[in-house]
Amino acid sequence: MKHYCVAVVGAMGAVGHEMLATLEQRQFPISEIRPLDVAENAGETVLFRGKNIVVREAKKGAFSDVDIALFSAGAEASAILAPIAAAEGAVVIDNSSQWRMDPGVPLVVPEVNPDAVDAHHGIIANLPEKQVEELLWTYRDRIMDLSRDPRAKYILIFKNHGKPAGASLEHPHSQLIATPIVPKRVMEEIEGSRDYYHFKERCVFCDIVRQELADQTRLVVENDSFIAIEVFASRFPFETWIMPKKHTCNFHEIERKEVMDLAAILKSVMHKMYVLLEDPPFNYILHTAPVNNECRHFFHWHIEIMPRLTQVAGFEWGTGMYINPTIPEEAAKSLREVEN
Ligand SMILES: [Zn+2]
Ligand SMILES: [Zn+2]
Repeated sequence: MKHYCVAVVGAMGAVGHEMLATLEQRQFPISEIRPLDVAENAGETVLFRGKNIVVREAKKGAFSDVDIALFSAGAEASAILAPIAAAEGAVVIDNSSQWRMDPGVPLVVPEVNPDAVDAHHGIIANLPEKQVEELLWTYRDRIMDLSRDPRAKYILIFKNHGKPAGASLEHPHSQLIATPIVPKRVMEEIEGSRDYYHFKERCVFCDIVRQELADQTRLVVENDSFIAIEVFASRFPFETWIMPKKHTCNFHEIERKEVMDLAAILKSVMHKMYVLLEDPPFNYILHTAPVNNECRHFFHWHIEIMPRLTQVAGFEWGTGMYINPTIPEEAAKSLREVEN
């Protein structure tokens, strides 16, 4: 069996440690392990297979004889060092965001497109599907935990990306706020869907799912458990909703297979938007049922994704109505055409 010289860039970081531990656990065939990090950490040691290995500085010349370089040192370091490592003959597997959207670098999600790895020119961007799944499990756990607090009437999870969308931090993050009331927007959805239920004896969201699947024109992508659609009367260009096909009002009742499917569809939609709209600022929100919900039959949880391509201004503030210059059918068509 071939044995590999493996470098871990960012070896002193938490992810670097995890990479070393995983290589050890999986008994990856290694001839030499080369922990690399910033100059300040050079000379430190890491434990690998019972031996203390000295950490070297990640720089030009540090990648000679390296077969595989695992990068977890952040986007800036990857931008500089990955091409150097590739030039010195290593195959870079980059865990940062630096190369994920680079057309010359395959973005490989092992569970989704393992074959894409063949197309690399020295650098492979990686985003483990598992990472998104972990995030969704965290959402679920936090909702379940906070639901036990009698003061919490509603738990809202949302994400702001980019300055125009109100993001206050550079790194990707989600936010959770528990409120002592059910917020107005949620209440309006619940009341609307209750009225519909009394009139039709069906869940309006289930009807939307059925209609959009039959119609196809606003469908962006679907899998076993979910659909992603451009909303029929969308407030914003490219307003996209992800809905479970199965009727279910509480996000926290999500099951294992559904978490996998949701991670996949979320990533697919995000990727399409990233490519088509060039990394747009966006907000996404999770609308699940209120804590002590009495809307089990007619509410249906969903995720609303709103790229911020237009400004909410006087007309919108003055009326609660929205001007949307993009036809949802055209938005859906453009998103469908972006390959994953
Ligand atoms: Zn439903
Ligand atoms: Zn909603």
